[in-house]
Amino acid sequence: MTIQIPEKANYIIKTITEAGYEAYVVGGCVRDSILGRKPEDWDITTSAEPEQVKKLFRRTIDTGIAHGTVTVMLEKQGFEVTTYRIDGKYEDSRHPKEVTFTPNLFEDLKRRDFTINAMAYNDEVGLVDIFGGMQDIENKVIRCVGDAQARFEEDALRIMRAIRFSAQLGYTVEPGTQQAIRLLAPTLQNISAERIQTELVKLITSPHPDTLRMAYELGVTRVILPEWDKAMETPQKHPHHMYHVGEHTLKALLEVEPKKILRLAVLFHDMGKPDTASVDEEGITHFYGHAAAGEEITRHILRRLKFDNDTVSQVTKLVRFHDYGNALEPDMRMVRRAVNKIGEDIFPLLLQVKQADILAQSDYKREEKLERLEQWRVFYERIVAEQQCVSLKTLAVTGSDLIAIGMKPGKSLGEMLQKLLELVLEQPEYNTKELLLQKAEEFFEKA
Ligand code: ATP
Ligand code: MG
Repeated sequence: MTIQIPEKANYIIKTITEAGYEAYVVGGCVRDSILGRKPEDWDITTSAEPEQVKKLFRRTIDTGIAHGTVTVMLEKQGFEVTTYRIDGKYEDSRHPKEVTFTPNLFEDLKRRDFTINAMAYNDEVGLVDIFGGMQDIENKVIRCVGDAQARFEEDALRIMRAIRFSAQLGYTVEPGTQQAIRLLAPTLQNISAERIQTELVKLITSPHPDTLRMAYELGVTRVILPEWDKAMETPQKHPHHMYHVGEHTLKALLEVEPKKILRLAVLFHDMGKPDTASVDEEGITHFYGHAAAGEEITRHILRRLKFDNDTVSQVTKLVRFHDYGNALEPDMRMVRRAVNKIGEDIFPLLLQVKQADILAQSDYKREEKLERLEQWRVFYERIVAEQQCVSLKTLAVTGSDLIAIGMKPGKSLGEMLQKLLELVLEQPEYNTKELLLQKAEEFFEKA
C-alpha cells in the first residue's frame, strides 16, 4: 500500500524525521487515501513534543498546545501536527480531562475512535495498521478500536461519528459496536448541540441519508431528535402513500440532492404529521394543517440544535410551503404568487423538495403530479426569463414615488405598495410607473 502524500505534508514529515523524531500522516487522510477519496486535510502525528515541533518550522500557530497540537504554516496552507498522546479520562462524555504525551505511536493509534481511522503512514515505514483498519475497509465495517462500550463511555460523540461514517461510506456497523451504541445512546445528551448538529448534517448530506433508520433503531434519534421517532411511528393509510411517515421521508431524502438546506427541508417536511393525524370513517388518515404545524416544529428543532438564522429561515419556509398549490391546476398567476410568498431565491429549492416528495409517494397519480410540477417549473422559468415582478424590489414604483405624489410616509404607504404589488402579481403588464401611479391615486381617493 502506497499513499501519495502531498509535497508540503511530506516536507514536514521529513523535517521532523531528520531531527530525530518520528512523524506520520494519520487518521482521516490515510483512510480517505486508501478509499480513493480526496482528503480534506492532512493531519500529522509525531513523537516530537510541541516545543520541539515549533523549533523546526519558521511559522507555527499554537492551535491546541495543551492537547499537543501545533499548526505548521507553509505558505498559506496549515498542517496540524499533534504529539503522540494518551487521552486521560473524559469528563461528561466530552473532552479528555488531561492528555499525556507518549513516545509510542501504538498508544496514539489506540486512542482513536474506529479502526479505519486508526492507521498511520509515511514513505519510509509504509502503512501502520495495528487494529485491522485495512480489513475493516475491505469488509466495509465501522468498528471501535478496543472495547466499544469503554470507547463510547469515554466520548459519546463517537456514537454520532459511527453512524455518520456508516452513512458517508455505506458501511455496516459491527454488531458489538452497535450493541454499545444501543446501550450508551442516552449519554448523547451530554454532547453539545453544535457538535450533534455537525454530525447530523454530515449524516443527512451523505450518500446514505437513510442511515437515519439505524439511528432510530439503535435509540440514537430518541435522544437527539425525538420528533423523528414519532415520524417513524406514524402510519399513513392513504392512496397517495405506501409508507409510514418516517419511511416516506427516508425515501424522499434519497430523491433529493445532497445539499444541506434541501436535505434538512426534506427531513423535516412532514414532521407536522404525527401531531395532526386523524382517521376518517373509511379509515383513511388525514393530516390537516401539517405543513403549518411542521414549520413550527422545524423551527423549534433547528433552534435547539443551534442552527444559524439563515438556515432556520430557509428550511422552515420550505417546510411551510412544501404542499402549496398541490391541489390546484397551476397558472402563471398562482406561480407568481407562490414565488412572492416564498421568495425568489428559495423557490427553485421548493420545486426540488416537491419533486422528492412526489417520488417518495405511491405510484397513485404520480404522472399527473410530476406533470403538474413540470408546469410549475415552466411557469417559473418564464417569470424569470421575462423578469416579471414578484416582489417590491422590482415594482415600478417606490415609496419615494408615492411621497412625491403627496402620500405621507408610514404604515399606509407600505400598505399601498403592497396593494400595487398585488395588482402586478395579478397582471404583470401593470408594472409601469405611469400605470401604477395612476392606480395609486385611484386607491388613494377611494380611501
Ligand atoms: P472527517 O474529517 O471526514 O470528518 P476524520 O476522521 O478526519 O473525518 P476528524 O474529526 O478530522 O475526523 O479527526 C481526525 C482523526 O482524529 C480521526 O480520523 C480519528 O483518528 C481521530 N478522532 C477524531 N475525533 C475523535 C474522537 N471523538 N474520538 C477518538 N478519535 C477521534
Ligand atoms: Mg478530518
